This record gives sequence, C-alpha cells and structure tokens, in this order.
Amino acid sequence: MKDLSIAIVGAGTAGLATAILLARQGWRVEVLERVPSLQPVGAEDSAPALRACRFT
Ligand SMILES: Cc1cc2nc3c(=O)[nH]c(=O)nc-3n(C[C@H](O)[C@H](O)[C@H](O)COP(=O)(O)OP(=O)(O)OC[C@H]3O[C@@H](n4cnc5c(N)ncnc54)[C@H](O)[C@@H]3O)c2cc1C
Repeated sequence: MKDLSIAIVGAGTAGLATAILLARQGWRVEVLERVPSLQPVGAEDSAPALRACRFT
C-alpha cells in the first residue's frame, strides 16, 4: 500500500502539515503548489513547517 504516492495540492499550513505527517508515516508525498515562491503571512505561523520541508 505505501508504494503509492500521495499528491497534496497546496503548500499552505494544512498541506505542509499533512505532508509532514504522512511522510513521517512512510508515505511518499508530493506537494503541488501553484505559486513559485512561498511567503509567510500574519504571525508567520507556518514558518516551522516551511523549514521542515524541502522542495525540489
Ligand atoms: C494577511 C493574513 C494574516 C494572517 N495572520 C494569521 C496569524 O497571525 N495567525 C494565524 O493563525 N492565522 C493567520 N492567518 C490565517 C492563516 O494564514 C490561514 O488560516 C492559513 O494559511 C490557512 O491554511 P491553509 O493551508 O488551509 O490555506 P492556505 O494557506 O491558503 O494555503 C493554500 C495553498 O494552496 C495553494 N493552491 C490553491 N489552489 C491551488 C491549485 N489549484 N494548485 C496548486 N496550489 C494551489 C495556494 O497557492 C496556497 O499556497 C492570516 C491570513 C491572512 C490572509
């Protein structure tokens, strides 16, 4: 089962948190984001998630 890839659309807080949780459980995850560069908003609460992810 875990040889399947999971695609997550959107690298916002929800998408990145989901990607991190699934990857830690051994799933292969691909995050698809429409904007070329992610920017923090507000209190920059997604900064830790951004740092935890590597984008190719
Ligand atoms: C100005 C501002 C300040 C804020 N300040 C705070 C704060 O201080 N504290 C706080 O807790 N919350 C704050 N928020 C709210 C917080 O940003 C949101 O609740 C949170 O970002 C929602 O996360 P999300 O992942 O659901 O959606 P989003 O962060 O909107 O992420 C969705 C992502 O999906 C991408 N996407 C959409 N459609 C597609 C598509 N078809 N293909 C590929 N990619 C796609 C978008 O480009 C985006 O990157 C603020 C919001 C704004 C606008």
